[in-house]
Amino acid sequence: MPTHHQVLIIGGGTAGIMVASQLIKQKKRTSVAIIEPADTHYYQAAWTLVGAGTYDYKDTARPMASVIPKEATWIKDKATGFDPENNTVRTASSGDITYDYLVVAPGLVYDMSLVPGLGEALDKGVVCSNYTDPDHTWKVIQEFKGGTALFTQPTTPIKCGGAPQKIMYLAEDHWAKNKAVRDKTEVVFATAGTIIFGVPQIAKTLMEVVDRKDINLRFGYQLKKVDGPNRIAWYAFADHMKEHNHKGVKTETDGDLTGIHFDMLHTAPPSTAPKFIQDSSLVNGTGWLDVDQYTMQHKKYDNIFGLGDVAGLPTAKTGAAIRKQVPIVVDNIDLLIGSDKMGKMAYNGYSSCPLVTGYGKMVLAEFDYDNKFTPDPKLKQMLISDSSKEHWRLWMLKKYILPYLYWNKMMRGKDV
Ligand SMILES: Cc1cc2nc3c(=O)[nH]c(=O)nc-3n(C[C@H](O)[C@H](O)[C@H](O)COP(=O)(O)OP(=O)(O)OC[C@H]3O[C@@H](n4cnc5c(N)ncnc54)[C@H](O)[C@@H]3O)c2cc1C
Repeated sequence: MPTHHQVLIIGGGTAGIMVASQLIKQKKRTSVAIIEPADTHYYQAAWTLVGAGTYDYKDTARPMASVIPKEATWIKDKATGFDPENNTVRTASSGDITYDYLVVAPGLVYDMSLVPGLGEALDKGVVCSNYTDPDHTWKVIQEFKGGTALFTQPTTPIKCGGAPQKIMYLAEDHWAKNKAVRDKTEVVFATAGTIIFGVPQIAKTLMEVVDRKDINLRFGYQLKKVDGPNRIAWYAFADHMKEHNHKGVKTETDGDLTGIHFDMLHTAPPSTAPKFIQDSSLVNGTGWLDVDQYTMQHKKYDNIFGLGDVAGLPTAKTGAAIRKQVPIVVDNIDLLIGSDKMGKMAYNGYSSCPLVTGYGKMVLAEFDYDNKFTPDPKLKQMLISDSSKEHWRLWMLKKYILPYLYWNKMMRGKDV
């Protein structure tokens, strides 16, 4: 007989732990189990600061056992597949597990094969990424002696879409302290996008930052492959290719591709849903979990919910988004268990991106599905009247307050 749990959660990351904690602490639901193979839980949002040498990597990690609520059952294993018609999840070594309600939250994975050469370049240390090894990024930034510093991102959805440019602003700030290095450096940001940020108020500030820092922006640049040994990033151009603040860095062409020669390269890796999700009947046409964008309920299976990075939602994949998704999922599951009906709460696509623009400076992009700027009224209590402008108090929020809230409130099922 397979083991059975009223609520089964796949993934003990930001989303999985928050759902479990709120179900237990706020709704007093006790038959909750989490399938999670890892020993360590990471507060990934601080990796940007680690990559800039202003936060200790070990402070971003805590034992998984310390964040899994003690009332929950921890199934230390990997989910490997689904039989949703029979309310069953398959696991690598714990057999089949059945559920009344399933929450799918295994995050995303990096698929280096989508940008040939990138995986090898990262392994050999030629390229750095805050997503995979932020301590290495800091080493690269410190050892950089000048040349072309290229910051880029893949064409797939990624975690925290602003992170590839945050580290650029911090790196430039670090180099600017040493005139000899900065004078010999061109900072280039190449992205497949059309603008620096989707929220107009934030984009305006960021363009001022870009001009102040004399950064070359290249839009419509689709990263196709990386030649680590020769230090060239190869791009195809989208129709909307355009440049801001051109710099004559060394480039070359090969057929339809244009290569930018770099002396250092930082990128986010191409990202997809985990393979066991992609191979299941739970995904939409683009391979992400097919959930309703307002209720987080699966579009085909009423007793399955999904949230976090794995969810196919038209908003940015962040922990901040998860903070607003969790109460919807928890409310809906609690009401379905208690009275077989769905709640009325709707997720409006809220996400947020703390855009650090230098040491001691930050802009806080908060927005919804329509890219409407939706600043938290609580910021006024911190004496921040306009979070679309750079502010040191926002930096303090990022470096000290948010990590505290994450570990002590969000992970423990308390409202923030
Ligand atoms: C460099 C960087 C900067 C970021 N900056 C910010 C920021 O400033 N603000 C912000 O809000 N967000 C930020 N984020 C994004 C944020 O960290 C993620 O959106 C968030 O952690 C996603 O939570 P999740 O639970 O969906 O996935 P994760 O937290 O990644 O957790 C997924 C969990 O599922 C487990 N799992 C995977 N496969 C299986 C399986 N088969 N079976 C069972 N379990 C499985 C994993 O072990 C993991 O524990 C950043 C991320 C990075 C990498």
